[in-house]
Amino acid sequence: MSSAQASDQPPDYPMTYERENIANMHGYIPGEQPDSPDIIKLNTNENPYSAPDPVIETLRHITGEMLRKYPPPTANDFRQVAAQTHEVASDNIIPTNAGDELLRLAITTFVEPGATIAVAEPSYSLYPVLAAAHGAGVLEIQRNDDWSLPRNLAQQISDGGAQLTLIVNPNAPTGTLTSVADLKELAEAIPGVLLIDEAYVDFVDPDQGYDAIQLIGDHPNVLILRTLSKGYSLAGLRFGYGIGHADLISPMLTKTRDSYNTDLVSQKIATAALTHRPFAQKTWEAVRQERDRMVRELHAFGILTTDSHANFVLATIPGDFAGGAANLYQTLKQRGIFVRYFDLDRLGDKLRITIGTPDQNTALLNALKELAT
Ligand SMILES: *Cc1c(COP(=O)(O)O)cnc(C)c1O
Repeated sequence: MSSAQASDQPPDYPMTYERENIANMHGYIPGEQPDSPDIIKLNTNENPYSAPDPVIETLRHITGEMLRKYPPPTANDFRQVAAQTHEVASDNIIPTNAGDELLRLAITTFVEPGATIAVAEPSYSLYPVLAAAHGAGVLEIQRNDDWSLPRNLAQQISDGGAQLTLIVNPNAPTGTLTSVADLKELAEAIPGVLLIDEAYVDFVDPDQGYDAIQLIGDHPNVLILRTLSKGYSLAGLRFGYGIGHADLISPMLTKTRDSYNTDLVSQKIATAALTHRPFAQKTWEAVRQERDRMVRELHAFGILTTDSHANFVLATIPGDFAGGAANLYQTLKQRGIFVRYFDLDRLGDKLRITIGTPDQNTALLNALKELAT
């Protein structure tokens, strides 16, 4: 045996091979995904209704020959349907591996490593994770007490030199809606890109007249995120898209995305989902009706909610109701009803409750009735 092999000293490997920012960051913690079908799952904002048969039927027409070949690289069939749906051009659409990939692409494409993104808090906890992975800082700007955007938001963003600003609308986890007029003003006042994360926009009542897509023509710094995960009941599919000025979409489409970022199966199903949009629209209306009922019934227990335009409500649990939010979350979980609790500064007395089917919502209300007495 040579002396080199005989050494019982461990080799001199470094402690970690990770880049410094990766070693120092924390990963995203997703909401619980329990296996049991008996669980009433009101914790991760899925649409409670399954995608309709004509969409699922698409799967049956996928053949081995279709999968043998690479998929259309930019999902052009989907882009055309999405362009028709939103009355824009195909050039204004980039299909992505769900909304999360669009967020990563936006950071990769528009933010220098070492620069800053701005986030109106509270919001989506994936944003700081993506920023940390990129080596970018996060300027966290707190929303007002009523969760509206602060008046000096644009000033704070400009002062902080943020190259990308992320606004969830309707916001998560509050459900509150910022007007298009306010978004327009913001887009015009900030130096960088404004990403409007519309993951929940499908649940906004059409009577609100909310339509931020109209901004993209005159505002080449506005990027809108859409996903099929929530509104179209396809969280398991992983398909989303960005809408923006062609000049904003182009670098992501032609340079920074993976060469085949969406797979053939998801392209087919996503195209069918938009083609059969009226089915999904019926579920959005059903969710809105149940949202109104939940707000009324929770109120009757002394549990107040925000004015939500999404498929969830943020409910403030009085300290003397079932021991407060954190305890109520645990008690409901023991009863097989999952809701979301955030152990965070401004959210510690609140629960985010996804709107389920009428039966699921009634089960939650019945549990609350028992716990209230
Ligand atoms: C769900 C969600 C997304 C995107 O989710 P995907 O499943 O990756 O499409 C983006 N932003 C917010 C705020 C969300 O809640």
